[in-house]
Amino acid sequence: MSRFWLPVILRFALIAFVALLAYVFYGLVAGLVVGVLGLGVLTSLHLFYLKRVADWVHQTDHPETPLELPAAYGAWSTVFAEMRRARRREVRQRDQVAEELNRFIQATSALPDGIVILDRGGLIEWCNPSAEKHLGLKLDRDRGFLVLNLVRAPSFTEYLMRADFREPLTITDPVAQTALSVQLLPYQETRRMVVSRDITSFVRVETMRRDFIANISHELRTPLTVVGGYLEQLIDQPDLDASRRAGIERVMLDQTQRMQRLIEDLLTLSRLEASLSPGRDEEFAGDALVNAIGDEARALSDGQHSIDIRTEPIMLTGAMDELRSAFANLVSNAVRHTPPGGHVHVRFGRCTDGVEFTVSDDGPGIAAEHVPRLTERFYRVDKSRSRETGGTGLGLAIVKHALARHDGRLEIESEVGRGSTFRAILPARRIA
Ligand code: ADP
Repeated sequence: MSRFWLPVILRFALIAFVALLAYVFYGLVAGLVVGVLGLGVLTSLHLFYLKRVADWVHQTDHPETPLELPAAYGAWSTVFAEMRRARRREVRQRDQVAEELNRFIQATSALPDGIVILDRGGLIEWCNPSAEKHLGLKLDRDRGFLVLNLVRAPSFTEYLMRADFREPLTITDPVAQTALSVQLLPYQETRRMVVSRDITSFVRVETMRRDFIANISHELRTPLTVVGGYLEQLIDQPDLDASRRAGIERVMLDQTQRMQRLIEDLLTLSRLEASLSPGRDEEFAGDALVNAIGDEARALSDGQHSIDIRTEPIMLTGAMDELRSAFANLVSNAVRHTPPGGHVHVRFGRCTDGVEFTVSDDGPGIAAEHVPRLTERFYRVDKSRSRETGGTGLGLAIVKHALARHDGRLEIESEVGRGSTFRAILPARRIA
């Protein structure tokens, strides 16, 4: 209070004192002239500082310009000092807010989910890089444009029109094979933001699950229909002659065994998929295992193929039952898919990467477009042929998983009309 008023009072007192002196020494007119002149100077000084304040306020509208206030005298120095302090506080707060905003933008930029902030009219105010990627936006280009015009998917337009945003919308792109979940979230009463999430892998897994169930149902339905039909026939015709009856029983047994194989393969596959590492690590003679598989293959072929087995004595470490399953599937495939009279060569030995188990045949071969898909569950080049030969369509899926659990891999080379070579490669650390 006193810091403001004291200089004001002193200045008025000074003018009054000088005017009084002029009056005493030179008369009334001189006193009045000095008083008016003094007040005029004081008023001009105040006006001058007021102008400075006006200029300064105008300057602070443009924060990029410097904001120094001039030194002032008297009451104005207090006012200017206060204004400087207030200004410094404001700048500090603004910097703080800018820094926080920057941190927030950086955090949201790192989010895998896309965020688009819309204004009241649905115009884009801001979006993060994930939203740019998901929705094909470009912030610099699209800011201020209607999101409705930029996200072209018709289902998105319908979704926005529907005005019920409790559930997200799924947008699929069959060409790029991607799926996006998009949801509009209202906030602050009239404002809205669009949140997008890439759900491609989720949709893929879901589709695989659905296909898998459909495939199993289909695989089981055929043998069950056959067995059911024949059982009905046996019940309806109890006095069927013995040879016809034996034929029916043979077919029913085949179909039952087919279902059994399918269930066994499914159980093997689910066991293999349950964990990433082999069930147990044991040491066993790889060559003995391969020779035993060779004997089984000869039994399966029943003398219809020439089967040649060559092995090197190598001790392996891993889960023997899993590797037996993998190797046996490859050999049984070669026998089953190669017509009678064909040749099957099995080789087990060291290679540059470690150990390899190779099965070659001179069967029908596989067209290149099928090769990458052979290890998918239930994928077959020729469905009816695979079933005829007793295949479940799960063999190579089992091979792939069993090898992967032993850090190995499967390589397939095939030429239509010439034959196929399946190579199971295990790393050197699998040699005991
Ligand atoms: P499947 O039980 O039908 O043999 P797999 O998963 O073992 O199922 O094999 C998938 C498909 O790969 C087979 O249906 C067949 O079309 C093809 N295939 C596998 N091995 C051979 C091979 N040695 N020669 C030709 N085709 C093969």
